[in-house]
Amino acid sequence: MLEIKNLTKIYKTKKGKDVLALDNVSIKLPETGMVFLLGKSGSGKSTLLNVTGGLDNPTTGEIIIKGKSSKDFTQSDFDSYRNTYIGFIFQEYNILNEFTVYDNIALAIELQNKKVDHDSIISLLKEVDLEGYEKRKPNTLSGGQKQRIAIARALIKHPEIIMADEPTGALDSVTGKQVLDTLKKLSKDRLVIVVSHDRDFAETYADRIIELKDGKVISDCTKITEVKNDRGENISISEEMIWVKDGNNLSDIDFFKIKEFLKNCNKAVISKNENDITTFKRVKNIISGFETETFRNTDENKLEIKEYDQNKNIFIKSKLPTKHAFRIGVSSLFIKPLRLLFTVFLCSVAFLLFGLLSTLTFYDEENSFKETLRNSDIEYIFLGKEFPVKESYGFDDEHSVFESKQGTAFYEDEFNKLKEKYGKDTFYGLNYQASFGIDKKENEYYATYFNSMTYMEENNKLYKTIVGSYPQNKGEILLSSYIVDCLSYYEILDANNNPAKIKDRKDIIGKEYIFKDRKYKVTGYFNSGSIDTKFDKLKTSNKEEYLSTEYYSYLNDSIHLIAFVSKEEIEDLTYVSDMYESYIYFAGETLVVIKNKDKTNFNEAYQIGYTKNNDNNIVLNKNEVLVSPFVFVELVLEKYSENQEIYIKASNIKNRGEYIEEDFIEYTNTEIIKYSKELFSLINEDIEFDLKLYSYENLSTFGDIYSFKIKGIYDKNISDFIAMNKNDYNKLLNVYKENASSYYINEYDYDAKVTEYQKIFVPFNKTEKEINEIWNIYSNNSLNEDGAKYTVFGNYIDTLDFLDELVNEFYKIFLYAGIFLCVFALLMLSNIISISISNKTKEIGILRAVGARSMDIFKIFFSESLVIMIMCLILSTIMCIRTCHSLNMSLAAELRISVFVFGTLSFTVILALSLLTTFIATYIPVRKAAKKKPAEIIRSL
Ligand code: ADP
Ligand code: MG
Repeated sequence: MLEIKNLTKIYKTKKGKDVLALDNVSIKLPETGMVFLLGKSGSGKSTLLNVTGGLDNPTTGEIIIKGKSSKDFTQSDFDSYRNTYIGFIFQEYNILNEFTVYDNIALAIELQNKKVDHDSIISLLKEVDLEGYEKRKPNTLSGGQKQRIAIARALIKHPEIIMADEPTGALDSVTGKQVLDTLKKLSKDRLVIVVSHDRDFAETYADRIIELKDGKVISDCTKITEVKNDRGENISISEEMIWVKDGNNLSDIDFFKIKEFLKNCNKAVISKNENDITTFKRVKNIISGFETETFRNTDENKLEIKEYDQNKNIFIKSKLPTKHAFRIGVSSLFIKPLRLLFTVFLCSVAFLLFGLLSTLTFYDEENSFKETLRNSDIEYIFLGKEFPVKESYGFDDEHSVFESKQGTAFYEDEFNKLKEKYGKDTFYGLNYQASFGIDKKENEYYATYFNSMTYMEENNKLYKTIVGSYPQNKGEILLSSYIVDCLSYYEILDANNNPAKIKDRKDIIGKEYIFKDRKYKVTGYFNSGSIDTKFDKLKTSNKEEYLSTEYYSYLNDSIHLIAFVSKEEIEDLTYVSDMYESYIYFAGETLVVIKNKDKTNFNEAYQIGYTKNNDNNIVLNKNEVLVSPFVFVELVLEKYSENQEIYIKASNIKNRGEYIEEDFIEYTNTEIIKYSKELFSLINEDIEFDLKLYSYENLSTFGDIYSFKIKGIYDKNISDFIAMNKNDYNKLLNVYKENASSYYINEYDYDAKVTEYQKIFVPFNKTEKEINEIWNIYSNNSLNEDGAKYTVFGNYIDTLDFLDELVNEFYKIFLYAGIFLCVFALLMLSNIISISISNKTKEIGILRAVGARSMDIFKIFFSESLVIMIMCLILSTIMCIRTCHSLNMSLAAELRISVFVFGTLSFTVILALSLLTTFIATYIPVRKAAKKKPAEIIRSL
């Protein structure tokens, strides 16, 4: 059944020395019987047994089990081979302390994936004289009892081979004998291989003794039973030996026979208890009537060996039942409770972060937006129009480009279309910041300005809320109820610098005020509604900075800061011009650089445009321009730096302009234009200059140098502006389009009035259709034909944008911190498993010897880390739900939406992550342990 061929085992020691433990050993073993491996310590007995039993791999050579050679065995095949055929018994009665006697025995059969038969275990216990011990734990048993359990465990699976390495080594002689008696009994119908250094035992029990020395077989004898023919009274004589009956004196007849024998045979020896007999076979037992047992050299050819078909030899793969894996795995979980606690906490926090991360991944911006609109008490949606610009700052090579947005105005027909769509209550607003001139602000709740001027038609719903009347003439104004409250709170002086004395809102009617240098008579007020009560705090406290910021963002995007005027007044205020029909915005602000002829200094200009008609009725020919006062003054200052009269006049105009720019004082440009025109007429020579196109984005000029001559002062615009004729303009425009990557061309319809409708107020009734449309405007990133797009403004938009940014930021933080913690947790967990592995070396060794595969070992530690992970999973899920809740409360309460929504998906993320962590943290340390040869583990015990 079992044959070993040319087995050699070389151990590599740590010092690099090779130990030849087995030296080309070949043995054919019989089907049944008791074979002893005898030899002194260190002779290679255990090695031979381990290699034969598949606990260790040979260096060269093979084992042939039922015709199957171990040459092609994987480690798992060795394990299965053991599991299938071999019952091991060790010197140290290797049984599992966590398991009862019964379970220890049952384990062997369970590993074979077979059902445990209760009765056979009980009867087996009876056989090894341990009846009634099944419920006992091993630590309550004596050594002999434990060894007998080990035997029972070896027997339960009815192995065809039993291998025992010094099974009596740790037992006293009486129990040792019992054990050997048991083994002897078993060897009747199976092969029992016993390692021993005790010759007496060997000779008493063995059917065959194979003796080893230095890894080699030095003798191999088989017990042969003979019946002696020639007998005296107390002796018997055969060919080579004389047997003497134990304890008897020799009779005369005996002496005679001895003499006879010695005459014929000169080699005979009578021996007893010699220590190192190798060449003589001894009489051992005289069984009865001179029937004797003798050891003679084994003739392996005479062994009765069955023929085996290796294809019918199927190994049973071990399968450690999960409940056992858990039992063994969990048993050492709490050895280091603090470390465990820390690891669980760390893992949980890592998972928590990923859980939160997943909620952010599923954060639905659209839904949040719509939900916000649904829950809001917004009455008007506030549309604006902007176009993207790339801006660049820096010098030479080092400049950074970033994108920003520039507001622009709606065309008249755009407004009309929107009004058609959103209904008659839609109205536009002009940016018109009019402050009341309060020096010291006492109360954040009351604003000190209004920010839009507008006009509404009679059928507008706001019209119905008017107290007083709607302005009919120029110089009349209708204020919002909120502005009336502000004016009365601050007791703003009227146009004649008298106290206005407003006790009741109605008192405002008929009062006159100066807003932005213009005198207005108040005809009444409209009801701009109430203000969200959450801002009431600002009435009494000045220390609510955050709330105050939010409040002003809220006010600016509401109708509280609007004033209505008559159609005539609005037309006056509306920027009407056919001076230029088209102008270019571009990256940054500078479009051109200009310099005086024959001067070196370049100046920058802001915009160029073209003109057809102008107030001065100047016809511009090729290369002739009108320039704004500021461009004009710059060029004059440089050209006339030596002419005192002109230089001083130009400086005055410039200073005035700078004063205006710096202090943001309400101004009219007429004065500056007037002085500039005067200065222009004073100079009676042509001012010529060179112009070059410039890209702020690239910080470079491009195209040719163009020469222009100043024909006059452009009288509508005080910024840096140059107006030319259409041909010149188009020429430059084309060059610009070819060379600059980002620009925006604001082209107004030729005949249309240029308006400054910067915002459009759309009544909002919270219908789903409206909500969807507003979402489309908000989320649509594609530009209109003119390069601009509509945008939605509002306090809630700011918050949503902020939230969006926040989500992105959080996402990053959660991701990086999560990864970091996860790695850390992984290491901690790995460490726990490593510790647990070293604590369980014994269990691993026993299980492996019984037949467990590496897989089973994995199973044990997986179940251990799985238990840890389940703790983490529960903890992190609870933490995640709670954190989501409180984050929602603190972050999104204002919006009444939830950003962090813990759902099945988040749970799945945490679950997947914990499984992954478990796998990685377990796999790495266990792989090492599982790879170890069982023999190695057992030896280290
Ligand atoms: P025995 O069981 O007969 O006492 P062993 O089979 O255990 O002998 O050992 C045979 C020889 O191999 C000894 O010299 C021993 O020191 C050596 N040996 C056994 N195991 C190892 C090992 N893991 N590494 C190195 N040498 C070993
Ligand atoms: Mg040994």
